[in-house]
Amino acid sequence: MKVLLIGGGGREHALAYKIAQSKKVTALYCAPGNAGIEEYAVCVPIGVMEFEKLADFAVKESIDLTVVGPDDPLVGGITDVFLERGLRVFGPKKNAAIIEGSKAFSKDLMKKYHIPTAAFETFRSAEAAYTYLETCSYPVVLKADGLAFGKGVLICNTKEEAADGVKLIMEDKQFGHSGDVLVIEEFMTGREVSILAFCDGTDIAVMTSAQDHKRALDGDQGLNTGGMGTFSPSPFYTEEINSYCMEHIYKPTMAAMKEEGRSFTGILFTGLMLTKDGPKVVEYNARFGDPEAQVVLPRLKNDIIEVFESCIDGHLTDSKLEFEDNAAVCVVLASEGYPLSYEKGFIIEGLEELKGEEGVFAFHAGTDKENGKIVTAGGRVLGITAIGNNLKEARANAYEAVERVKFPNKYRRSDIGKAIDEV
Ligand code: ATP
Repeated sequence: MKVLLIGGGGREHALAYKIAQSKKVTALYCAPGNAGIEEYAVCVPIGVMEFEKLADFAVKESIDLTVVGPDDPLVGGITDVFLERGLRVFGPKKNAAIIEGSKAFSKDLMKKYHIPTAAFETFRSAEAAYTYLETCSYPVVLKADGLAFGKGVLICNTKEEAADGVKLIMEDKQFGHSGDVLVIEEFMTGREVSILAFCDGTDIAVMTSAQDHKRALDGDQGLNTGGMGTFSPSPFYTEEINSYCMEHIYKPTMAAMKEEGRSFTGILFTGLMLTKDGPKVVEYNARFGDPEAQVVLPRLKNDIIEVFESCIDGHLTDSKLEFEDNAAVCVVLASEGYPLSYEKGFIIEGLEELKGEEGVFAFHAGTDKENGKIVTAGGRVLGITAIGNNLKEARANAYEAVERVKFPNKYRRSDIGKAIDEV
């Protein structure tokens, strides 16, 4: 079977690694891919938003299955374009990917179907939002409706901060049209857990849990980023919590999407907050999380292509998901200054030594190849994942591996997975 993977980040590197393991796969292509993905796939220089060119490529190369990694093409309707051309593709259609593409949509869905989430109001005018701020208790959370590279969420401690946020999102249009509509919601406290799940339009199969670290600095300080590290499983996500979420969140979400004529086939990511009143949904994404994929996929025992196909064919119940009884920690190596300004183009050393080492993966995110050497090419450069018998061991292994990879402006958090010490 010939497979085309779309994307070029750390998530797609982890996907390429897992897809390449499948007994069914005879050839793997990745568009556009990156310097690390080349190890598993033939990289093709087509951008993720060039739907027609990607479909042309799939036709020309007789691709049997296309797997879409990132949110932008899914929300933009890549799946519909491929389906219209009679191509087999894994990922939700545009009318289902809206669960990630519009926060106003997902919040309204949760309200309508009684899925637990933070209380909220939606605004289409800045004036109405300012008036509402007079009545709020603080902190509040402002969310630009559309995609905003993970930066469209502002936690505001005072009315003044919130007014500045409304201006930034709705009047200054910091996130473009993503800020035409604004969600203002109640601030929740608790531990966050990320749950990835395979979905076939009707049924949902939940993967092992993971926890992300979004802030740039140790102790969850500093700016929000695309993610500075992850660990899996989360010891806080118990069997009991999983059963509750299955009954009150995951199954109702699938049923709600179906009821709305938006059956969801693909990967549903549910960001949960474990509050004192029970688990509540923080957000949905319509794809694998990055860097959650980098700790969940290396622990998945199944042939991932078989699971993708069972989703597409509506037979997910035939697949029983199995995960290794171990743990994984991923530490992101970033360029100093990320998520603001940073330098790039530095040679990365130490990657060769990590290659082939059992239970250690250097997933490439922002890298490039210059004169045969791997160089830094982005804010998040690499995700170093290590496996261990338990979380403590995995964390020690990950930080040991992290020290062996070198580039001049290397930055990492030193407390990824530290929360597990509290267990
Ligand atoms: P991404 O796509 O990068 O995951 P996003 O822009 O879709 O992020 P959210 O996941 O909705 O944004 O929010 C980002 C972070 O903001 C959450 O992980 C959480 O830490 C915090 N957050 C969001 N909503 C709330 C809330 N109601 N109460 C407290 N914190 C919140």
